[in-house]
Amino acid sequence: MKRIVVLGGGVGGLSVVRALRFVHAEITLVERRDSHVFQSRLYAAAVAGRGRLESGFARLVSGQSNVQLVRGEAVYLDARQRRLILADRALPYDTLVVSAGSQPRYERDEWQRFAPGLKSPEDARRIREMLRDRGSSAVVAGGGVNGVELAAAVALSDRSRRVVLVESGDRILPGFPAALGAAAKDQLLRLGVEIQCGRHVVGMDGESVRVSGEQGRERILSRAVLWAGGVRGANFGAALRSEAGAQLDDQGRVSVAPDLTVPRHPEIFVIGDLARVLHEDAPMDGLATVAAQQGRYVAAAIRERMSGYDARPFQYVDQGRFAILGRGGIGVIGETQLRGPSAWLAAKLAQKWSAPEDLLPRLRAYSAATGSST
Ligand SMILES: Cc1cc2nc3c(=O)[nH]c(=O)nc-3n(C[C@H](O)[C@H](O)[C@H](O)COP(=O)(O)OP(=O)(O)OC[C@H]3O[C@@H](n4cnc5c(N)ncnc54)[C@H](O)[C@@H]3O)c2cc1C
Repeated sequence: MKRIVVLGGGVGGLSVVRALRFVHAEITLVERRDSHVFQSRLYAAAVAGRGRLESGFARLVSGQSNVQLVRGEAVYLDARQRRLILADRALPYDTLVVSAGSQPRYERDEWQRFAPGLKSPEDARRIREMLRDRGSSAVVAGGGVNGVELAAAVALSDRSRRVVLVESGDRILPGFPAALGAAAKDQLLRLGVEIQCGRHVVGMDGESVRVSGEQGRERILSRAVLWAGGVRGANFGAALRSEAGAQLDDQGRVSVAPDLTVPRHPEIFVIGDLARVLHEDAPMDGLATVAAQQGRYVAAAIRERMSGYDARPFQYVDQGRFAILGRGGIGVIGETQLRGPSAWLAAKLAQKWSAPEDLLPRLRAYSAATGSST
């Protein structure tokens, strides 16, 4: 029987495993945690301690008799012998699917001590404690999607708190059209967030953050500092580089072929945040919707190969990109730009993996009914 090893029980890995439900194969899911984390719920947990953040793997794959769970950290790859190496065992595979995700990227390692990123339930607890114990002001470093969503959530949780969002570029949300960046800026200002663009974090000490920009240097007094200054691919990318000759980009993501395999290794797929996949000539964002689609694609490719066919290249169906600010926000689906409550609604629907062709007519009807803009 074919041995399929899936590394990572996040969005991408689980979507592969579930889509292989009826396949006659031995599937092994390797994951260092006990449970799957719902990352989009981490904001609410970090600011308000709300929401169920995890679901045990045993429950998630119960009833799927072709899957066995292995709890542990994959530390290396023996690509020649086709074995995934854990601390206490080696798992042989015919096909390996790597969906090991990403992690916060710090400019200086020592900042991790003062400024947690938000990636896990442990981070959410740490941020919650920090805001509770030290929180008359908070600085959020990084004006991408994670930074603006975090700043909005922190501002909404306590309207008396000073929240400063620091972004080194000349505007927030550089990955979105300028008009949407401006709309998000207005929404954040209405929530009371101070936005400082063109300023770079250059130091922190647990009592304050030092920023530098064209207007010179400033020290912002704040004991609560939250890091949203970017992410990089999971450490396992280094094993793929040294053992399978994979190319990593400057964010530690693995460049994959159009069928999501590592070049010259058709037996190794890489998906999700760890994969560098081009869509319309630009690398795709790290999104749950992207990881889930890639996971379903890989499962279909494996099934086709087992039937003796070659897989077609991965084709992404755009489910949109969003930045959610309270019950508002901004978003883009294809050519359609969304602002306010319609962006919030579209993001919720996209999380449920709705197809965009269903999504847009529903949104237009909603916008017409509520008077919010699309
Ligand atoms: C706060 C936050 C909010 C977000 N909100 C949204 C949203 O609203 N909509 C959206 O589309 N996307 C959102 N995202 C992005 C989305 O969560 C990711 O793009 C998605 O989870 C990527 O899936 P993945 O399978 O690549 O990685 P992950 O889901 O991160 O899973 C990787 C898994 O691999 C495991 N792992 C890693 N290395 C090893 C190893 N060596 N050995 C064993 N196990 C290992 C990890 O423990 C983890 O469980 C959000 C992300 C964050 C951090």
